[in-house]
Amino acid sequence: MQVRFWGVRGSIAVSGDAYARTGGNTTCVEVLAEGERLVLDGGTGLRGLGAALGFGPVRATLLFSHLHWDHIQGVPFFAPAFHPESDLTFVGVTRASGTLREALAAQMRPPTFPVGLDRLVGAKRFVDVARDAPFEVGPFRVSPLDQAHPDGVVAYRVEAGGRSMVFATDCEHGTSIDDRLTRLAEGVDLLVHDAQYTAAEYQGVGGPPRRGWGHSTIDDATEVARRAGVGRLALFHHDPARSDDAVDALEATARAQFQRSFAAREGVSLSL
Ligand SMILES: [Zn+2]
Ligand SMILES: [Zn+2]
Repeated sequence: MQVRFWGVRGSIAVSGDAYARTGGNTTCVEVLAEGERLVLDGGTGLRGLGAALGFGPVRATLLFSHLHWDHIQGVPFFAPAFHPESDLTFVGVTRASGTLREALAAQMRPPTFPVGLDRLVGAKRFVDVARDAPFEVGPFRVSPLDQAHPDGVVAYRVEAGGRSMVFATDCEHGTSIDDRLTRLAEGVDLLVHDAQYTAAEYQGVGGPPRRGWGHSTIDDATEVARRAGVGRLALFHHDPARSDDAVDALEATARAQFQRSFAAREGVSLSL
């Protein structure tokens, strides 16, 4: 299983020298196995993946954790979606507030966007799956798990060819670690976990308290990794205020807690 980070930032994309080594694009992770392409979230990093793939045609499944801006804004800029022979499947979990297709269409209409979703002619299907039942995409077995986040989010366990990873972005543990997530991540080769805040930031030191904003601390991420006995932990969904130097510092802190930690950085590719 090949994993590549195309966007590792949370909340809003950033640019500039201070962010160059980590990357400024929002959430997008590509997973390849047996020639099948799975894309986790369509933040602004999806534009770069589309540019690398070219106009197409391209076959892929795009799987969404939830539908906040930083996880969908790359969709209108994903070049292969405009190729009529591309074969793209968009998958999200069932939500009370509407279908995946409706949410993606809502960001591509006046007065906020010039081109409608119907112009993405390579987008062949939009599928809303159950929040609590595993499903298969080609060689991938995908298991969703509800997590705490405003308007909801799901973490996904993805398995193929005997390798495994968990994608747990935008999850908030609050006062105690969610043991359901620990069980989902049990023994995976790679855990990609939200690590937006330091414990001090979460508590409100030097800024507003971030409780209820839907994100984890570095300590939460390393604790889940330790309890689940994962192969490697990728700190993910970096705060837009986090410079490269600050990301380096967080990485060092995380390694002191769980040695096999690293900060996800744009362009980094892993072989599981
Ligand atoms: Zn987010
Ligand atoms: Zn979110």
